[in-house]
Parts: sequence; C-alpha cells; structure tokens
Amino acid sequence: MLDKGLTLQYREKPTRGGLRAKGFGLARSQGPASPPSSMTRTEGELRREIVEIGRWIHQQGFVAAYDGNISARLDDHRILSTPTTTSKGMMQTEDLVICDYEGKKITGRRSVTSEMAMHLLIYKRRPDVHGVVHAHPPTATGYAAAGLSLNKALVSEVVLSLGCIPLARYGTPGTPELTEALAPLVASYDAILMANHGVVTYGPDLMTAYFRMETVEHFAKISLVTELLGRQVLLSDPEVDKLLAARARYFGPGAPPIERSSVCPVTDGVRETSERIPVSRQELEAMVREAVRSMISREPTAKSVEG
Ligand SMILES: [Zn+2]
Repeated sequence: MLDKGLTLQYREKPTRGGLRAKGFGLARSQGPASPPSSMTRTEGELRREIVEIGRWIHQQGFVAAYDGNISARLDDHRILSTPTTTSKGMMQTEDLVICDYEGKKITGRRSVTSEMAMHLLIYKRRPDVHGVVHAHPPTATGYAAAGLSLNKALVSEVVLSLGCIPLARYGTPGTPELTEALAPLVASYDAILMANHGVVTYGPDLMTAYFRMETVEHFAKISLVTELLGRQVLLSDPEVDKLLAARARYFGPGAPPIERSSVCPVTDGVRETSERIPVSRQELEAMVREAVRSMISREPTAKSVEG
C-alpha cells in the first residue's frame, strides 16, 4: 500500500538529490490541513527545486532534447518557469524566467516557454496549485498517442491518489487549441494526458506535481503490462468507494473528494461492455460477409414492395 509516512502530516522528508520535500498532499486541499505551498518557499528554494526536478525528468527519460517545462507560483502576480529551448537536464538556477499571469516576461535572460499558456490556465483555474510539471514520458505519452486515457481502476494507489488520468483532445502546442482542450478537465483532475503530445501534472507544491508525473508514467507501464498479458482485473465499485473514502486517512482530513463518474475510474461494473475479444482479419471478414448476407436476405425485393 501507499507509504503513509510519505503522505501524512506534510512533514519535511529528504528526497533524492538532497532537496527536502515539504508535504505530499493532494491538490484542491485548502482547509486547515493544506500543505505548505510554494508561497511559503523563497524564490531561491523554488529555483533550486525546478532545476533539480528538471534533472530528474531528464534522467528518467520523461523528456528529450528541449522537451517539457516546469513552473512554480511565486505570488499573486508572478510565475517562475523554465525557459524555452533548454535541456531540462542541464539548467542552472539563473536560466529560469519570471513572467506575469499574462505570460509576459518580467525578469530573466531567456525567453518564456512557449507552453506557458497551459501553466497559466492551471494556476488561474486552480488557486490551490503552486507547481506544474509538463513532460513527455514515453509510456503515458504512448497511451495519449493511441487515443487512450488511463482511467481504469487497476491499481489501488493510483485510484487513491489520482482517481484516474483523463485524456484531453489534441491541440497544437503553444496555441489556444491546447488550453481549450485542457480547460474542461483542469478543475476535476490533478494529472492529464494530452493527445498526441504528453502529460501535465500539478499540485500544491512542486514536489507533489513531480511525484504525480512519476505516478502517471509508472501506472502507464503497469497498464501496458496488463494489455500485454491480455487480461485486466478491474476493482469493483465498492472497492473503489472504499479507497476514495480512505483518502482522509492517508492525506489528512483536508483531502478533497475525488469526483466519481461512470468513466473515472472505470470499474469492473463495465467490464463486460469493455471486454476485448481478439478476432482475426479472416474471422472479421467472414462475420461482415455473413451480416451483409443476412441483411440482404431480410430486405424485401422491389417486386414484393410493388406487389
Ligand atoms: Zn510538450
């Protein structure tokens, strides 16, 4: 199960690279149990965290070349972000850029990332969010490129932490198309697949946003293994209900509820309708021929209609 020590009470814990993470709580938590946000960090601390997370996403192969971007809310007027055309594995703290909530650069030698509109959308729609990570992790992005969301109740921890990961329709990167595609999903989810593009995750602090990216890619790999095995055993509705009810136990009383819907997460209640039956091309052609033959034989002829 999920390591309670990682999630409860938002204690400071050492992480890889020597940074200390303050809290791993879920987003949308604005009650008394809210974790320390980026607002409690100094700009210097946030710069170091962004650089470190950039190294992690690069080392783990979540990005290639100049891919991806990371940002943190500095205050009500400013966002700290990675610059455009920079390897996220080779950044220095002074490479980062500060812009306003319209995406206009305030300070920094480099240019603002072309995907800043996506970050701004999330900060504007989710006041509880203080960190955003965007990357192209290969397995999760593979699902997004296949037009598949990661919405099945296959792994208890993923249901507990994210509910499910929906797929936003395709939008050209760096254009309003992309933000329009994400907009309907931002309020209800903390991780979103972007069709033919990648993944965006966010949370009350940078570390939570980053860990959610890890969770999405890890879950995508597990989902892929079940696909390869040709078998998926989904959790039942009551099992999912119990997990969602347990969120307060793991994330504190301020943990916000995850909205259940018929498609998030998909449980065994719909297993029969979503079951895949392998059919060869020959069998498929024979079935189509048979269906057409039976339709023709049932259709009244022109003569019989006239008669
Ligand atoms: Zn991208």
